[in-house]
Amino acid sequence: MKYIFIISMIVMPLFAQKVIESKWQEEQTFEEYLISRNIPKDFIESISEEDQKFLSEINKNDLIYELKDDNNTLLQALIPISKVMQIHIAKQKDSKQYLFDIIPIEYTIGEYYAKVVIENNPYTDTLQQVKNKNLANRLSSSIKNAIDGKKLKKGDEINFIYTQEKRMGNPVLMPDVKAVRVKMRDKETFIYVDKDGDGYTKLGESVAYQARNKESESAKFGMPLRNIRITSSFSYSRYHPILKRNRPHHGTDFGASKGTPLLAVHSGKITYASRMGTYGNVVKIKHSGGYESLYAHQSRIAVKHGQRVKKGQVIGYVGSTGRSTGPHLHFGLQKNGRWINPMDVLGKKSIGSTQLKNITEKEDVKKIKYKTVNIKGAKMYKTKLLRAIKVKKPSFVW
Ligand SMILES: [Zn+2]
Repeated sequence: MKYIFIISMIVMPLFAQKVIESKWQEEQTFEEYLISRNIPKDFIESISEEDQKFLSEINKNDLIYELKDDNNTLLQALIPISKVMQIHIAKQKDSKQYLFDIIPIEYTIGEYYAKVVIENNPYTDTLQQVKNKNLANRLSSSIKNAIDGKKLKKGDEINFIYTQEKRMGNPVLMPDVKAVRVKMRDKETFIYVDKDGDGYTKLGESVAYQARNKESESAKFGMPLRNIRITSSFSYSRYHPILKRNRPHHGTDFGASKGTPLLAVHSGKITYASRMGTYGNVVKIKHSGGYESLYAHQSRIAVKHGQRVKKGQVIGYVGSTGRSTGPHLHFGLQKNGRWINPMDVLGKKSIGSTQLKNITEKEDVKKIKYKTVNIKGAKMYKTKLLRAIKVKKPSFVW
């Protein structure tokens, strides 16, 4: 089923079908979307209750793809619910009925070589010459700690290899810079880049770094319950025994008895305090740093929309409202509009990531840590970069 959409795109001109790309509107509910596309309302009832909860998990502003015929009838739609899975709606042949499914998003990964000649600075020049803002960001941060950018002069050269994920031919998610060569006049510097985007000039060495953000008490996330018992973990896609297919679980489930107080994991503003379909009574809190937390199945909500809350404040009570087999907390956490594994963040030391920093004598560094630079595939990418520089043909495409 999932391949039909892709195939249709390739043979599109034959059937007078068109693919339309748009963004999921921020304030739009799934029901409103169906109405706007003339999909019968009983379509929702045909979706299993297990799957209905994903209808509230669509990423606002994500790209959706629709296949329409020349009468503007929706034939198929692909709507992401995470970076891994997407809703697939497909009109049945010779029928007004639609089918619902959740399928993996198909990504292709491209590897590219780019060359940037310095006119002003690495960021603006990359943006101008490669026309990709994310890439310009990634490149300038990858060389920041490895070279002194102020010494770059007009005519100097930066060559680099990067990978970029694409969905339906469009660049999505962050590109990964893999290896960089900076040529300042006659001096060459090679930079290996790790998965966080930090650059190093040497491998296998112990380097000093300090935290980018202060590891203060206020930067820590707390736990949503006083006593923690995880009954189900986060997953982008795992086998669902009832549906007999892969489904995501966009949160962590905590077991607790009915009426147990729920605590705000961090200070913030209440953005939702009401019923939300199969999630039952839900509270959502917007925090700084692009985070938003969600507390589902509550027996009682203790806060109001728009209210400010402090970390540890009681925002509601454990319950079993919505679709739930027994009292528990389904806790979801989003960063920049995407579901992430809450346990990667809850109880951890700092909101911010750590950053390599060259330690100089002059700097007043309070907290120095050490890590050994070990980057998978680093040498291979350097070899690839050297070869690409020799051939002298940039291969980036946008
Ligand atoms: Zn859950």
